[in-house]
Amino acid sequence: MTIRVRFPPSPTGYLHVGGARTALFNWLFARHHGGVFVLRIEDTDRDRSNPEHTEAILHALRWLGLDWDEGPFFQSQGVERHRADVQALLDSGHAYRDFTSAEELARAREVSQLSAGDEDDTRRLPRRRAEAMASGEAEERAANGEAHAVRFRIPEGETVWEDLVHQEMRFQNAEIDDLVVLRSDGSPTYNLAVASDDAEQRITHVIRGDDHLSNTPKQILLYHALDRPVPTFGHVPMILGADGKRLSKRHGATAVGEYESEGILPGALVNFLALIGWSPGDDQEFMPVEDLVTRFTMERVLKKSGIFNLKKLDWLSGQYFNASDAEVLEPLLTEELVASGLVTREDLESRREWYLRLIDLLKTRARRIPDLVDLARPFLTEELVFDVPAMEKHWFKAPVEVLERLTALRSRLEDVPWDLEPLETMIRKYAEEQSVGAGKVIHPLRVAITGREASPGIFEVLAFLGRRRVLQRLDDAIARFDDGAGS
Ligand code: GLU
Repeated sequence: MTIRVRFPPSPTGYLHVGGARTALFNWLFARHHGGVFVLRIEDTDRDRSNPEHTEAILHALRWLGLDWDEGPFFQSQGVERHRADVQALLDSGHAYRDFTSAEELARAREVSQLSAGDEDDTRRLPRRRAEAMASGEAEERAANGEAHAVRFRIPEGETVWEDLVHQEMRFQNAEIDDLVVLRSDGSPTYNLAVASDDAEQRITHVIRGDDHLSNTPKQILLYHALDRPVPTFGHVPMILGADGKRLSKRHGATAVGEYESEGILPGALVNFLALIGWSPGDDQEFMPVEDLVTRFTMERVLKKSGIFNLKKLDWLSGQYFNASDAEVLEPLLTEELVASGLVTREDLESRREWYLRLIDLLKTRARRIPDLVDLARPFLTEELVFDVPAMEKHWFKAPVEVLERLTALRSRLEDVPWDLEPLETMIRKYAEEQSVGAGKVIHPLRVAITGREASPGIFEVLAFLGRRRVLQRLDDAIARFDDGAGS
């Protein structure tokens, strides 16, 4: 049997990280088993659905790399089939026409609560009314155009299924209302449309959020009534913020698109989302998507809610920058650098090899694309912009010593072999001779060479920049002391 799963977002907003996680679990499950991932847009809520949202969702899925094998199907295009399924339910006696108006129902509920307090009293009211009708009456009233809904008759007994996450689930049918499957305006309801579409698209496994648990017995009963095979269900736990509350904007961005705009790498977000509510069973956290596909199983989806821990995303994002080839980062960075006015595309193209080496140097410290842009600045300009707090902290607290050290380093840098190892050895040895920690030498040097408090490893930076530029920068830094900048 080929496994067939689906992701059916409603295009009533952007793609939420919770939805993206559901999509990802389905996609991983499909890819792990060589199955089919179906995309269905559930656009039956005409007022709230719109094509821009659909486009944004498709874009977000593509950005994450969650490619679909079939679809997108649009639920609204299946309305005739949904209605035919409702008719089949009516024909087989699994559904009935309900002429009770909403007001009547509300009034009956009020009365029952006031008197007996038996909350079940009104539960089957529409059914009792339907059954009280003389044979043929309902059809006659319907034929006369009288507004009515169609309700699914919930059978007696209980509904049980073996959930992929929660194991055995049991619902007493007596607790379930006869649900409306077709509204009085002729529109099918969610449960009917979903069961009809899942059957039509031959879905074998329905993997979705815990918030749909109470819909599942209704859908299972509909499959039985429509004589269609019942898929296997797996309900994935909700995502909570770090404070244990339901995930909301308070906890950070909830739209996938925001992470794209922030300059997170999609692989990092995929890896991060996979680890919310799922674990490979060991401590491994950095798992590129191929590893996720290999290791993902539904057995390892956890029952308890997953925590949305942005610190982990940050860490993972850094790991992904570090692991990415410069060629992959190049187009993303180029676009931003050119937009920032720092360089032109032609300039970068003319020294592409140098540029790729620069990316390799910078990517070790980046967690977002904007970090790369920022880190790149000191390498793309001759006019260093000095960070004042960094100067205060590493230069001007002890200007005499710092000036002495920078001057001494400058002279040693003139004839040290220009390579990573000799540079590092020389600088550490100098610190030792001076009986100070290496940081006392490295931090002021970093400020002199990059203008910043933070940069990639200083030895790598020196090696990359080359002797001429390094000496030039040291001269400029030393001149700042001579100018009396430190006094
Ligand atoms: N359109 C529904 C939602 O977005 C789909 C639920 C389901 O997976 O059945 O919640």
